Amino acid sequence: MALLITGGAGYVGSHVNKMLSQKGYDTIVFDNLVYGHEEAVKWGKFVKADLADSEALGRVFTENKVEAVFHFAAYTYVGESVTDPSKYYTNNVVNTINLLDTMRRHGCGKIIFSSTCATYGEPEKLPLTEDMPQNPISPYGASKLMVERLFKDYNRAYGLKFIALRYFNAAGADPDGEIGENHDPETHLIPLVLDAANGKRPDIKVFGTDYPTKDGTCIRDYIHVWDLADAHLRAFEHLASGGESDFFNLGNECGTSVLEIIEAARKVTGKEIKVTNVERREGDPPVLVGSSAKAENILGWKPRFNVEQMCRHAWKYIQSK
Ligand code: UDP
Repeated sequence: MALLITGGAGYVGSHVNKMLSQKGYDTIVFDNLVYGHEEAVKWGKFVKADLADSEALGRVFTENKVEAVFHFAAYTYVGESVTDPSKYYTNNVVNTINLLDTMRRHGCGKIIFSSTCATYGEPEKLPLTEDMPQNPISPYGASKLMVERLFKDYNRAYGLKFIALRYFNAAGADPDGEIGENHDPETHLIPLVLDAANGKRPDIKVFGTDYPTKDGTCIRDYIHVWDLADAHLRAFEHLASGGESDFFNLGNECGTSVLEIIEAARKVTGKEIKVTNVERREGDPPVLVGSSAKAENILGWKPRFNVEQMCRHAWKYIQSK
């Protein structure tokens, strides 16, 4: 029995691969390496191929008894999804249909999916719970919501079992420092702040200081990537033991402002970090915080790491590169 990880050379996928392997599962990473990194695939088998390549994908299922799929392969740049929606709908939606139909043909009926809080759009109420309206504002968020809809329909028609995990702001790195976040281009706050601490960038630009929040900067719900990996493992075990298909938020239930992140990074690194205040970034809501009470109740999942630990682990990884 094997577990297939699409996008397993990427940030969250590579951490899930490590955790599943540590638990004794045989894993197969399927990644086209467009954004993934081969050196992040340190566990299991590796197949370098694109999800659009039905033949390569089919071969994985013919040659292995795939028990479940962990599906991370997707493009994730929100801004690019606005300027090039075709790229996002093709890769994130059409290629997922190809994956689901290949699974059906080979009798594989379980999938754990990397969804996002971007499926909610502008929140009406906080913290966000899973039953709140989903009105994504970007093609990226819409592409993830379309996949959630596919799951519901494939569940009803073909009995596909699924868990869709809606992440809030993934951050941090493997606590052992073996793997971490490696985006090119990097757009996420914590790695950019640490690059400023490291002298790789001259400063950190704070996007807007006039939001209606305690210090005027945006508040987000940061969640450690190792906690995310733990949620994937639990989601799989939930389905494997006969649990229902479902959707879960994965957040810390706790908001942290941009300035608080910079402060945590100063503390962890002991470095000066130059801050430059700039205009708001378009499309940024002032506050995004998710309730993960449902994941706690049903999956028994609770995040263990705080923002300072996220910065500490990410810093350890950055310095080892
Ligand atoms: N942010 C910032 N400067 C940067 C990158 C991000 O001030 O160089 C802010 C951004 O406006 C948001 C928060 O940091 O409020 C987290 O942004 P990120 O891009 O990491 O994640 P997002 O919440 O957009 O998914």
